[in-house]
Amino acid sequence: MTQISEGVYFIKGQDEFIPDSHTYVVGKLTSQDLTLIDPGLMGKARYKIQAILDMGIELTAIKRIIMTHTHLDHIGCLAEVRKEIPWAELWVHATEAAPLEEGDERIVYGMEMFKNMCQMQYNLKPGAFTFQVDRKLEEGDNLDLGGTSWEVIYIPGHSPGSVGLYDRSEKILMPGDVVYADYAIGRFDLHGANGPELKNSLLQLGELEVNTLLPGHNRIVQSLPPGYITDTAKQWAPYLA
Ligand SMILES: [Zn+2]
Ligand SMILES: [Zn+2]
Repeated sequence: MTQISEGVYFIKGQDEFIPDSHTYVVGKLTSQDLTLIDPGLMGKARYKIQAILDMGIELTAIKRIIMTHTHLDHIGCLAEVRKEIPWAELWVHATEAAPLEEGDERIVYGMEMFKNMCQMQYNLKPGAFTFQVDRKLEEGDNLDLGGTSWEVIYIPGHSPGSVGLYDRSEKILMPGDVVYADYAIGRFDLHGANGPELKNSLLQLGELEVNTLLPGHNRIVQSLPPGYITDTAKQWAPYLA
């Protein structure tokens, strides 16, 4: 686990033939009010929990789990993580909370063919990704997470209920899978994805001042060039029309 700033920690995903999302831990360690962002892929709970314990953090300090979105590579090990911290609340954007509570797994798997493959590979039963959501996030929510402040930014397009978390004072953005380093963006061909929405979301993120980009996969960037997200949006705009 790597410290990004006071109150933001990074646990790198361990990709397999399916990627594993990065996990971030948010909150000042002294606050005893910590939040996990995106647990990750099936089978990845153990090393991520261990990384947290290795920092001297007691698991009782973890109060909640926030999903940037509910794709399999982010939510796959949610059930494993919750076995370790069953008291932790689950916070998801309202648009993806509803299908999650109903057991509609189309967003989780993204496409039917992928669902069948993963259910076989990981021995997943239908309905494995049915969860009650404790708080339904909305655009503009202000979250005080263990002495750090984050704005919820609703950025659909990669998935219908994607959110970014933005710390305006520290200029830190967690965009989930909406935008990555190296001018890459999230895919927009999965169930509930939408190219024009993704374009608008990128343009919306482009209006934020961001120094530190903490995406769901690949490199993190700690001194993001000004205009980076807007440039990325422009490069991709022809494909997102
Ligand atoms: Zn995704
Ligand atoms: Zn992902």
